[in-house]
Amino acid sequence: MTTATHEETLGFQTEVKQLLHLMIHSLYSNREIFLRELISNAADACDKLRYQALDNDALYEGDSELRIEIDHDPEAGTVTVRDNGIGMNREEVIENLGTIARSGTAEFLKQLSGEQQKDARLIGQFGVGFYSGFIVADEIIVRTRKAGSDKAEGVEWHSRGEGEFTVADIEREKHGTEIVLHLKADAREFADDFRLKSLVRKYSDHIEVPVRMPKVEKARDADGNEIEGSETTTWETVNEATALWVRPKSEISDDEYKAFYKHVAHDFSDPLTWSHNKVEGKLEYTSLLYVPSRAPFDLYERDGARGVKLYVQRVFIMDDAEQFLPLYLRFIKGVLDTRDLSLNVSRELLQQDPKVEKIKSALTKRVLDMLKKLAKDKEAYQTFWNTFGSVLKEGPAEDYANRENIAGLLRFSTTHTDTGIQDQSLADYVSRMKEGQEKIYYIVADSFNAAKSSPHLEIFRKKGIEVLLLHDRIDEWLMSHLTEFEGMAFVDVAKGELDLGEIEGEEEKKAQEETAKAKEALVKRVKAALGAEVQDVKVTHRLTDSPACVVLPEHEMGFQMRRIMEAAGQKLPEVKPILELNPEHPLVARLEAAEGEGFDDLARILLDQAVIAEGGHLDDPAAYVKRLNALLSG
Ligand code: ADP
Ligand code: MG
Repeated sequence: MTTATHEETLGFQTEVKQLLHLMIHSLYSNREIFLRELISNAADACDKLRYQALDNDALYEGDSELRIEIDHDPEAGTVTVRDNGIGMNREEVIENLGTIARSGTAEFLKQLSGEQQKDARLIGQFGVGFYSGFIVADEIIVRTRKAGSDKAEGVEWHSRGEGEFTVADIEREKHGTEIVLHLKADAREFADDFRLKSLVRKYSDHIEVPVRMPKVEKARDADGNEIEGSETTTWETVNEATALWVRPKSEISDDEYKAFYKHVAHDFSDPLTWSHNKVEGKLEYTSLLYVPSRAPFDLYERDGARGVKLYVQRVFIMDDAEQFLPLYLRFIKGVLDTRDLSLNVSRELLQQDPKVEKIKSALTKRVLDMLKKLAKDKEAYQTFWNTFGSVLKEGPAEDYANRENIAGLLRFSTTHTDTGIQDQSLADYVSRMKEGQEKIYYIVADSFNAAKSSPHLEIFRKKGIEVLLLHDRIDEWLMSHLTEFEGMAFVDVAKGELDLGEIEGEEEKKAQEETAKAKEALVKRVKAALGAEVQDVKVTHRLTDSPACVVLPEHEMGFQMRRIMEAAGQKLPEVKPILELNPEHPLVARLEAAEGEGFDDLARILLDQAVIAEGGHLDDPAAYVKRLNALLSG
């Protein structure tokens, strides 16, 4: 019997209370995951001890056979998960089992609404971890001692999961951790040998540490009858106990791959796809990389968790090793196990090791390849794209060498489908290009509707030329790094001269030149009327329905990017647009016939309208309204 001293009762961090509440209410149909989480923690603890014992063998305290034991008592209604891993000291117990350590999680929880349905979905986005024990238990007792510490430095923690926990110092013979769950009345089914065994197999086959369960045997007499009181217990390993990625691909089932994903990614949903590779030669490593089907809550947070679980020669080194994948692939989860790094590698050392760069570039290719394969399954790829597309769009800017491959993976809205859904590839676009078309046309706007109804598209619609409709915040940034696809240049239809190349016949071009000549006088008058507000005035044939539009010089930053940068407080040099007039439009004819102040006002109205159609803001909107009203009532 242990005697507890220095007992204190502490409150859980607010977010833990919230998490407990959410978990108990929303994970009811998923209760069994508690075992996965506790085994996962025990396995992590063994990994950590093995790693630290590399340079200090004494930490094993003479017991270097790492293992996890699962015990149960149907009469008492308890399940116990025990490991001989690293263990915890008092401070660590308070910190780890009283707060939520993972950065961002607490912040995220604060923003959760009370809506249960939504929460059930959200809760799967981060590891529920240790606290999931309270889904099935109304009391949890943890006994632990840090490896290498004195026997008197054991700690006992217990809690009913209702807002507070108690810690006390105890004597503990063995290092490592023991977690005893007192099952709730309706969860007693878990204190069952068969049930536990099947759960261990389901969740822990891929864990390298053996998970053992007791096997009780009774001796038999000469007649083959069991002898009362002769029970002996042997411990039997119930999981496969080899690291999954080490096994040959052909021997691993899809279900095992999926279960392993849930273990590394702390996710409830299945992954969309994965890629498992063993590389030998100059570099020696095994990688198992997954594409999740759901975005983590911190995908867009700067210090959000990302990267792979790193092992060196099967020894766990660190979680979230972010050096092995570029930022634009930060949604990828998985494992990297290599012989190319030393066991005492640290995050700092990773940054300097040239081998890391090489592995990174190989893994990047793998992932792009895996996505290309995934794209053959349209539905699955659409799920991927809707979830991670805007992250992948960071790719061409970050990874110049792979930009052609990335371009092939992008999906767009276009005038071909005219829906806001981004589901058309550049290859789709190219396959539909008009005879004589040499360029890929696109437009960027703040929303799908603004892109779809931009006056710049009028000529393209008339001629049946497809235009990509870009409307994500990142799109202009993306396009400034994508210059061509399969040798074809990208052209922003709202910038520079309209050049349809071969699509326009000689005659058409000639007619346009003649119109331009005929309108020279008008253009001059408009320029004089608008003065410094425009860079230039031209007649155009890009419009069919609108009287005018504004165009930016070819190499000028676009309107979308300007607005984003200005909103972020950047001061940008002013750019004057080029005003283009549709010579066929009745308002332009009316302008031509106007004189004096009437002419000036109408010219201004046309300019202001064109700016509005572009999603821009007028400097003096009231003046515009006044002029327009004068025109309407005139
Ligand atoms: P996570 O595993 O994602 O860190 P958990 O809630 O599962 O979150 O666990 C919280 C922390 O408690 C762990 O990071 C670890 O430091 C500690 N811990 C939990 N179980 C054990 C154990 N069996 N042995 C040692 N430490 C443990
Ligand atoms: Mg955990």
